[in-house]
Amino acid sequence: MEKFYLYNTLTRQVGEFVPREEGKVTMYTCGPTVYHYAHIGNLRSYIMEDVLEKFLRYIGYDVKRVMNITDVGHLSSDGDTGEDKMVAGAKREGKTVMEIAKFYEDAFFKDCDALNIKRPDVIEPATNCIREYIALIEKLFENGFAYEAGGNVYFDTSKLADYYVLTGHSADELKVGVRDDVEEDGNKRTKTDFVLWFTKSKFDSQELKWDSPWGVGYPGWHIECSAISMKHLGEYLDLHCGGVDNIFPHHTNEIAQSEAALGHGWCSHWFHVQHLNDRSGKMSKSKGNILTVSVLREKGYDPLVYRMFCLQSHYRKPLEFSYETLDNSKAAYEKLKNRIQAIAEEGGVDTEKFNEYRQKFIGNVGNDLNTSLGLTVLYDVLKADMNGATKLALVRDFDSVLSLGLTAEEKAEAQGGEFTEYVERLIAERAEAKKAKNWARADEIRAELGEKGVVLKDSKEGTTWTKA
Ligand code: AMP
Ligand code: ZN
Repeated sequence: MEKFYLYNTLTRQVGEFVPREEGKVTMYTCGPTVYHYAHIGNLRSYIMEDVLEKFLRYIGYDVKRVMNITDVGHLSSDGDTGEDKMVAGAKREGKTVMEIAKFYEDAFFKDCDALNIKRPDVIEPATNCIREYIALIEKLFENGFAYEAGGNVYFDTSKLADYYVLTGHSADELKVGVRDDVEEDGNKRTKTDFVLWFTKSKFDSQELKWDSPWGVGYPGWHIECSAISMKHLGEYLDLHCGGVDNIFPHHTNEIAQSEAALGHGWCSHWFHVQHLNDRSGKMSKSKGNILTVSVLREKGYDPLVYRMFCLQSHYRKPLEFSYETLDNSKAAYEKLKNRIQAIAEEGGVDTEKFNEYRQKFIGNVGNDLNTSLGLTVLYDVLKADMNGATKLALVRDFDSVLSLGLTAEEKAEAQGGEFTEYVERLIAERAEAKKAKNWARADEIRAELGEKGVVLKDSKEGTTWTKA
């Protein structure tokens, strides 16, 4: 396996990424709260997480990635006060919460398709897992980390040795996470305690409620991610992703409740994407008038221009959005595609050159996901003295990570969406099976794909496929 160095919010340094089980990565992504369209800031996070996942697969890992859809429990203030964002969204549009959730979840995935963001292997709406939250909260009671007060169930942060393990800072220093109003909840024993289960909502309009040992109510936002991750990925997690605003309190609380329930460490690597800001500050769904993929389209931008814009800068630096800088990305993107389209597929692939540049690409992107240096290697390929077939093979190879639709057939495949993902997932699994000398499974996969009209072609550079 190639070495991959990645910044870890938990250790506050760049270190070698080493999953718990060799060759396999369990990855969890905090999904969208589906009460409104995703703005292009949210999508910056999802684009960079997509590159991260694809790069892990590219260097040979078998990745299982899970994402939740927050359709209940995320209140307008991170301090557990305010209205459920979903209820507010439903009221705004005169619809039910489930109608709102379905509409904006579909819209989110359409945006993802337009941006060539692959769907995670598992997508789990929060409302699907009520049983799992209840079981986890019961475990927290059993282990002495939960209490009831004023009708709600709270997590008792005073029982932890280090609540601030992820940030190394106290709440007062963590302004980034504090959104909207922070109205104190008098039921909390300690200011940092947070709600696991709401029964006393001051809003009678809470539409979705479930029975629980503590009364009819609904789950808190944080418990969703811990329970959904454990449901699909087990007791240990290799990699957890989100935007920087998730660090506190959301991820801090996820760690607190997961480790308190499990009785051991939980997630070893935390990946956070810095925010996209506009000139007036951080983009936020609740501010209204949000900048979406549709707005970019209306203004004549291919959504992949925005993907290019994101890849040109480092995920750990705040990025300021302006149409002038987007225009620069547009010009660069169009020029890049034109140069690639002008390459004639001639000669045979020069394996030595191919491997040399592939290694450069891995070295650059593998240094804390430096996508802009990854693009530099792509430009180097276009300038280099090598035949057309080798250049195009490298462009296709790099674009399996960058996903900029740089060659005509990739664009067509990307539009095939889910089928392409399905085929690629099986091809990756087959590569792993072959590595493990599990020939039976490898043959089984070839046969399964064959039935669907997919023809595999193996070469030194890996496996390519065509559809009959
Ligand atoms: P939400 O739908 O509000 O739950 O957020 C979805 C994802 O977008 C989360 O991972 C957030 O951390 C992330 N996010 C929110 N605002 C921004 C922003 N301005 N730039 C980048 N990521 C963001
Ligand atoms: Zn989450």
